[in-house]
Amino acid sequence: MISPYVVPVARLLRDVPSVTEVSFEAPFDEAGEFEPRGPAETDVWPDATVSVRLRLESYPGGLRARGRVGVPWHGVCRRCSVAVTGASDVAVAERFVTPADPVDEEAYPIDGDVIDLRQLVHDAVLLDLPLAPLCRSDCRGLCPVCGIDRNEATCECQPVSDPRWATLDELRFTDLPDDVGGV
Ligand SMILES: [Zn+2]
Ligand SMILES: [Zn+2]
Repeated sequence: MISPYVVPVARLLRDVPSVTEVSFEAPFDEAGEFEPRGPAETDVWPDATVSVRLRLESYPGGLRARGRVGVPWHGVCRRCSVAVTGASDVAVAERFVTPADPVDEEAYPIDGDVIDLRQLVHDAVLLDLPLAPLCRSDCRGLCPVCGIDRNEATCECQPVSDPRWATLDELRFTDLPDDVGGV
């Protein structure tokens, strides 16, 4: 069976400019070709269903791919470490060119009469994964002294007053945007 990620583009390349819509759902990484990320990092299960909606448009020398990619992800709350799940819906605007064009290193390759969307989908999804998800926006986290889950219980511990840790906490809890992904 041919993977839905592999899209025939002969007509697009012959009739310039022309447009086609690509829309499918498929497992994120059926072939297991992408490395899993670290255990505490936000990631996508290989069998998670990705929905791909792209508009492919040919121009002299290549193809533009614009649209959206949606996928569920999983991670751990950065404050209390419980499992967190969510969904990304990522805007895509990329190009495909023939490999004979060495100046265009930011584009994906056209492979003869087809393009393979796997790498594009993988890259788009990973760049958008939340770096530090929260189980809920007001998660109170774990007590740094006794480790109790402050969402579940309270303790009598005094706040840690070491200024080095205070700085780290500020960095971690306020300076880091929630929705900025990273690889
Ligand atoms: Zn939490
Ligand atoms: Zn405590």
